[in-house]
Order: sequence, then structure tokens, then C-alpha cells
Amino acid sequence: MKSVHDFPRLPLCVGPTPLYRLPNLSARYGRNIYIKRDDMTGVGLGGNKVRKLEYLLAQAKAQGADVVFTTGGAQSNHAMLTAACCAKLGMKTVLFLKERGVTEQKGNLLLDHLLGAEVRFVDTDSYEEVYARMDRLAEKLRREGHVPYTIPLGGSTALGSLGYVAGMEEAYGQAKDLGVRFDHTVCVCGSGGTTAGVTLGTHLYSPDTRVLAVAVDNEPFDQVVADLVAGALRLLEREGETVTPPEIRFHVGAGYGIPGPEDTAAVEEMARLEGIFLDPVYTGKAFAQFLELLKEGYFTGENILFLHSGGAGGLFAVDLPEA
Ligand SMILES: *Cc1c(COP(=O)(O)O)cnc(C)c1O
Repeated sequence: MKSVHDFPRLPLCVGPTPLYRLPNLSARYGRNIYIKRDDMTGVGLGGNKVRKLEYLLAQAKAQGADVVFTTGGAQSNHAMLTAACCAKLGMKTVLFLKERGVTEQKGNLLLDHLLGAEVRFVDTDSYEEVYARMDRLAEKLRREGHVPYTIPLGGSTALGSLGYVAGMEEAYGQAKDLGVRFDHTVCVCGSGGTTAGVTLGTHLYSPDTRVLAVAVDNEPFDQVVADLVAGALRLLEREGETVTPPEIRFHVGAGYGIPGPEDTAAVEEMARLEGIFLDPVYTGKAFAQFLELLKEGYFTGENILFLHSGGAGGLFAVDLPEA
């Protein structure tokens, strides 16, 4: 068997990120609500993708890559963080972004530009088409003597998921130092890698904790996450081990990247009670769902961990409706 420490990993994350109890929210809802501040991973505007990139870009470096490709929506946090990490490592980034959503030079697109990334818009709804484009440019660059490395959507591969196995080792270690055991851990599910890593990391380091993932897009995440967990188990030479799957709740509203009034209310509640900014596309939606479940009495235990996965750039691009 292997551990996450047996894989090459670049120390990109300026961590450990803070984990602490939110006093005002805890008082309002009568539970101990803790937050893991992975919006403070220390690269770009911070966010969860940095943990995956520690493993993915270590592999890129090992292969001698000098240019990194990735993809996402026009306002992709993952694309921005890939560009930020590559800037730190001296690698060129080409971002193949879907020409959908907010494509003006603001939010993450502005940051991509500041980071020196090359942005290529692809006018399509299909990632198949985006990957075909990437393959063509990769071929061309290889003929010119370059070594391109492609990171798929969200960095959600088995290797990328190890970033959150390591992230949960960190979080549960902090909990132990604080003398708390979490009954529930709540995270966002967008492309699945974070949820897979949180699920496997919880299995390994805090097996009595239940994982709830809030999905912000309509994809078959049960299967996506199960496949990523199985892939990560294979990497750790633990294949076949039984891992309790997360409970996945969908909170998509009018669509991916489109916040509703209840999401604005959730973003405001966190800002006004705790001075922390959530984002309109991921964490705001997850927190809205979390509050709804809290009010319904879904959570059985006293101690709950909410993983703040970042996304601040979206606040400056995606309009929140009136709460
Ligand atoms: C990408 C992202 C997520 C979702 O993580 P996945 O690993 O893609 O499921 C959650 N929150 C923020 C802010 C993100 O950028």
C-alpha cells in the first residue's frame, strides 16, 4: 500500500490553510460549524484546484513539460489557478475556454490575462470538441520540440484527487489538534475530483465522518465520483477496498453558473456574520443548500466542517440576483 506522500508533489499550496469554528453561525444554528479555508491556498486568489495541481504539475514537470493546457468555462477558477501555478513554475499556459457565460475581460478572465496565460476561446458546448482542439495544438507543438501536458476539466483525475486526500489528512489533523471530531464534512461537487478526494481522505483519516457533497451541475456524479475514488484507490494500491460513498445533493437552480436569490442570501449571510466571501458559482450554492439542510434537521451530529473551496474571482464577473 502507498500513501499520498509516496507521489511526487510540488509544494504549491501555502499551507496548512486555516481551520476554525465560525462563532456567529454556530450560535445562530446551535451547532459547531467549522470552516476549512481552502480559499486561502496562497496562489492566485486561492481555491481548491491548487491541491490537485500539486500532483498534476509534479507529473508535468517529471515529463519535462514546458507548456500546460487546460479547459473550463470562460470564468473557470481552475483555469485561472492553473495559470497562476504555472506562472510560479515558469511554464507557459494555454487555456481552451468555452465561449459561454461571462466572456468579457473581467473576473477570472482578467486574472488569466494578468498571469500571462494564452486564452483560446472555443465556441462549443462540447468538451469533446475542446479536447480535439487541444490534441491538434499538442501535435503541432511536439513537432516544434515542445512538451505539452494536458490537464482535463477541473483537474479531476485520479491523480488530481489525491490532492484532496492530502487536504483531508491536513484538515482532520487540525481537528485532532483542536480536540474535535467532525460528524459531517460538506464540500462542493463541480467536476468530482474534490468530492472523490474528500471521500477517500475521510475514509482514511476520519472514517466516522459522513461526507455530503453539493452538486452545482447536472452530471451523473455518483458514477463520476465512484470512478475517481476507484482510480485513486488503485494509485494507493488499495483497490477493491470498500469506501462509503458521499451523499450527493443537487443544487443547480437555473443552471451551472447561474445563482438564484437563495444563493445571494447565503453569500450575504456568510459575509455579514463571519466576514468571509463565498462565490456565486460553487460555494455560495453549496452554502445555500447547507443552510436549507441545517434548518430541515438533516445533520445528526454537533460538529460540522464546511470546506470553502474558493472561487472569489467569480464575484467580480457573475451577477448575483437580489436576495
Ligand atoms: C472547481 C471548484 C469546485 C468544484 O471542485 P471539483 O473538484 O471540480 O468538483 C468547488 N468550488 C470552487 C470554488 C471551484 O473552483
